[in-house]
Amino acid sequence: MLLNSKNSLLTPIEYLKGVGPQKGELLKKELNIHTFGDMLSVYPFRYLDRRNIVKVKNIQEGEWVQLIGKITHSEVIGVQRAKRLNAIFKDETGGLNLVWFQGISWIEKLIEQNSTFLIYGKVTLFNKFYNITHPEIEVIQQVDLEQLPSFLPVYSSTEKLKARYLSGRAYVKLVSQVFLSIRNVDIRDVLPISILNKFQLIDRFKAIKNIHFPENEEMLNKAIKRLKFEELFLHQITICKLKLNHKKTKGYIFKQVGHLFNTFYKNNLPFELTNDQKKVLREIRQDTLTSYQMNRLLQGDVGSGKTIVALLSMLLALDNGFQACLMAPTEILAQQHFDGIKKLLLPLDLEVGFLTGKTKAKERREILKKLEEGSIKIIIGTHSLIEDKVVFQNLGLSIIDEQHRFGVAQRAKLWNKNTYPPHILVMTATPIPRTLAMTSYGDLEISVIEELPPGRKPIQTIHRSEMYRAKIMDFLKTEIASGRQAYIVYPLIEESEKLDYENLYSGYEQVKQFFPSHTYNIVMVHGKQSQEEREQNMQQFIKGDAHIMVATTVIEVGVNVPNASVMIIESAERFGLAQLHQLRGRVGRGAEKSYCVLLTGFKISAIGKERIRTMVEESSGFVISEKDLELRGPGDIDGLRQSGDLDLKIADIVKDVDIMTMTRNVAIDILQNDPDLNLEEHQYLKAYLLSQKDKEIWSRIS
Ligand code: ADP
Ligand code: MG
Repeated sequence: MLLNSKNSLLTPIEYLKGVGPQKGELLKKELNIHTFGDMLSVYPFRYLDRRNIVKVKNIQEGEWVQLIGKITHSEVIGVQRAKRLNAIFKDETGGLNLVWFQGISWIEKLIEQNSTFLIYGKVTLFNKFYNITHPEIEVIQQVDLEQLPSFLPVYSSTEKLKARYLSGRAYVKLVSQVFLSIRNVDIRDVLPISILNKFQLIDRFKAIKNIHFPENEEMLNKAIKRLKFEELFLHQITICKLKLNHKKTKGYIFKQVGHLFNTFYKNNLPFELTNDQKKVLREIRQDTLTSYQMNRLLQGDVGSGKTIVALLSMLLALDNGFQACLMAPTEILAQQHFDGIKKLLLPLDLEVGFLTGKTKAKERREILKKLEEGSIKIIIGTHSLIEDKVVFQNLGLSIIDEQHRFGVAQRAKLWNKNTYPPHILVMTATPIPRTLAMTSYGDLEISVIEELPPGRKPIQTIHRSEMYRAKIMDFLKTEIASGRQAYIVYPLIEESEKLDYENLYSGYEQVKQFFPSHTYNIVMVHGKQSQEEREQNMQQFIKGDAHIMVATTVIEVGVNVPNASVMIIESAERFGLAQLHQLRGRVGRGAEKSYCVLLTGFKISAIGKERIRTMVEESSGFVISEKDLELRGPGDIDGLRQSGDLDLKIADIVKDVDIMTMTRNVAIDILQNDPDLNLEEHQYLKAYLLSQKDKEIWSRIS
């Protein structure tokens, strides 16, 4: 809500009629409602047509219903904490049970009135009887249905609130009380008038009023449209401002393409670059010529060849007198990068540093010294690189592999490593759908590698049910006999962790029966092992000493074993699409044809089926990510879970993509003409943005 000193929306909630100190505390604790304004910013999750009364004989399990009838019998059962009130409710077509566990004495008194009641609640089936637990109940003297509102807001309430008579209905009364206590002018419009006119949006007061108490369906729709627009617009203008700030952040100029880059490119490039790789290098080259800091996200499917782009960019930095670092999310990935890049750079006679949490103290001191002196030009490592102790002589470029494991804050830490912030390139193998790229990564410039290096054999993906397990294992044997290795992956989901581990262990035992230990070496890798044990097992597999790796999704990111040609995914229906795609990317990295087997039970949900079908038919990570978004919604998309900047209240990032695009354009327009929001018509918008959690973005406004 928009605030100023005399704004009644700021009034503490306990001063609202009907609240008081006790309920006030409860509202703060349970719903984070501190002021009148907060009360209005909790929107109803649905509306009830109060004229719509149903008959008992027509009700069904799971429905929210309104009934009118009498209570024919009631009794209190149990004592103290286990007490409950049972009642039988009847209309002329039948009866059902009502149950209360709380507020019993109050309900008892109400029932004694022996009048006609209007009840409202959700129907459940218990012991073959219909039940409503904790229904809303009120006495109806003379039912004039026409007088009842057709849109009664329904708010979500919590058990604790209900226990203190702050049920959904009571909440409705409080909200209407807020409207009685404020003035129209208290709700100021953050959207400029010109935008309201252009997009035919109703003003903010009307929208807030109608989202709570719709005058009619048309006004409700207008309110929804307006509030969605506002929500997405505020998000977009913040992101666009961030991007603008990036663009205004001074950065180093990489003036020349010099000796190192050219030598490597001419003599040591192990393959011809794909067109997409060249395109991205050009984009990076452009960025680093502008005298502003680069903030670029490089998206490319697993195996699309991002590493060589990273390497060449680092050489570009070196050619201009700067140091460069490459940071990976895990020890193993960092090690793989280090080994690969060191080998590639051998002919150039460059020292490449390696720093992780495991680096021994003496070696660490040495490396830190060399970094500060500038004798190490390229360093590869883990999070250890962002520690304050790591001081560079002249860092010009930071590359972060697997973006989604690094938070925005960690990215920002890299900024302080030189006078100007170094250029930032983040690389991710999780393709991000267009709409999400517009939101979560909207502050970054985006590069995409879509084209895979030539000669890749597509991974054959097949779906089999449990019944085929023995056959699949036979197939595995032939692959292993011809020298290949295989992964068998089990789901691990937090909610069912214990059970999942049991499945993993019993799966491991089962695999051992198919593959006796005198002939086969099987390793297991999961998150409950010590880091040493896990890495030892992984190394065995990487070196080719183990035939099969049984694992949870810990292997998801980055592990590169070109000799592994089969990936079996157990209970594949339980994985998300993005995850399945990431897992599949572990195979198909060598010269041999590779396979991905999706094993499932017989019963699969419709969505599960759709996911499996998509995996069997599609290989492009981009297509898969769009499908994933469509099936699951953004909350579950990998990498967004942590980002936390997408808590939308009313808009839906998938369904409202048109509004989003519209608001993005509006935001860009506004910032183009009035980057610091100094115009009169932007003053409320500016005040609002400055009061928000992203305010550091806006505090740079002069
Ligand atoms: P990712 O994008 O997953 O990090 P990598 O950079 O690890 O992919 O590249 C995957 C494999 O493809 C590596 O073995 C790499 O040497 C190879 N590769 C990369 N680019 C090309 C290319 N243009 N032509 C042929 N092979 C390539
Ligand atoms: Mg990679």
